[in-house]
Formats: sequence, structure tokens, C-alpha cells
Amino acid sequence: MYYGPDLLRFDRQLLVIGREAQLKLRDSRVAIVGMGGLGSNVAMQLAAMGVGHLTLVDFDEVELTNINRQPLYDESDVKKPKAIAASQKLMKINSKIEVVPIVGRFEQNTYRIENVDVIVDGLDSISARLLLNAFAVKLKIPYVFASVEGYYGNVSTILPGKTACLRCFMKSGRGDEKACAHGIYPPAVFMASTIESSETISIIVNGTSPLAGKLLVFDASSYVFDVTNLKRNPSCPVCGD
Ligand SMILES: [Zn+2]
Repeated sequence: MYYGPDLLRFDRQLLVIGREAQLKLRDSRVAIVGMGGLGSNVAMQLAAMGVGHLTLVDFDEVELTNINRQPLYDESDVKKPKAIAASQKLMKINSKIEVVPIVGRFEQNTYRIENVDVIVDGLDSISARLLLNAFAVKLKIPYVFASVEGYYGNVSTILPGKTACLRCFMKSGRGDEKACAHGIYPPAVFMASTIESSETISIIVNGTSPLAGKLLVFDASSYVFDVTNLKRNPSCPVCGD
């Protein structure tokens, strides 16, 4: 944990967000579920900015084909569990924070992320996201969703009890191929994960965020960004009445 003089490392961001916000980041707990392109970038940004406690969940190992868009990993990490490789790298970025790696699927480890302040989505399939959404809604934990395919990205924040949940606007019927099977433009991953990081910071500091109850859709080939309001579905099987 960092106190007093240790806060000086955040000098440039303190000038923007202020000391009180920085202390909220220090005292907050974030779970990142899925440590691929989205999750590893979010983890890197949150660790560097001083979020005090990160739980990283991933069952997979680093592959050479990950490294083009997952800068937490390098060639020496190939075949290592992502959660472990990521936690080792994050401790080099910021040794003052706590990082808990969980090598496994979140469905089998939900009890270990029950007491976090924010859940960040780094998953790669709709079915897994819908499970995570249902868990977050049930435990009333803010949930930052993102997905990327090709040049396109989506980001939304779900505040249980206040906004639409993922199930309100996303059905499971689309099939369940991994998005990365269709190819991913790395800058689109960086864009989506940067917005996820900023949403997370905003929730921790303000209790809400610019994309709460909204869906951002962007095209990284043209830089067109579009934000739409999401309505709660009163008959949603997850969050409905
Ligand atoms: Zn819903």
C-alpha cells in the first residue's frame, strides 16, 4: 500500500483527479475476469494508476498469437498461465498494490470475487459474459462490459438496480464462437480497454460513470463513436421485476 510520499508517483494524475480520488483508488478492489486483450490492458492501466487490490481471473495460458494486442505478456511468458504472468508483470509496474491471480474459470471461483467494488469484463464469449452479468446483478456489483471484433468495439457499464443489464439488450442465441476467432484489430482492443479502465476509475471515484446505462459502439477504422441509451427490460430474466 502506498501512503504519504509514495503518492508522489501519481503526481501527474493527482493534478487531474485529486488526492481524495487517488485514496479511493488505493482503497478499492477490482476483479478482472478474463486476462486477454481487454483484461490485460485494463489490469496494466489500473495497476499503474494505483488501484490497490486487483483480482485476475483466467484459466488460459499465454500464446504467441496473444502478444500482438496483450502487452502485459512477452515471448518468455508463452505457456505460462495468464493470471500468473500478468500478476508478475503488474508487480514490476506497481509493487505497492495487492494482486491476486486465480488460474481457473470464474464460475468456479465466484466466492473469491464477491467483495469487489467493480467487475471488469475481459471475456471472449457471450455465454460467459451473460453468466458474469447475472453474477454481478445478483451481488449488486457494478459491471463494466466490453467486446471487440474486427475493427468494432462495444463498451457499457451496468449498475445493478439502476441501469439495464447485459441480458436486457443481449441474447444468448447468436452462437458462442470466440470473437477472436473472427480476427481482432489490436488498436480496437486498446481503445475498448482504455474506456473500460476509465469507466472503472469513474465508478470508484464517483459511484457512476459516463457509460452507465448506455452502449458505446465504435469503429476503429474510421474513429466513428456512437452512444445510445439502453432501456431496462422489465421482463428481463436477470434484472426484471
Ligand atoms: Zn436485465
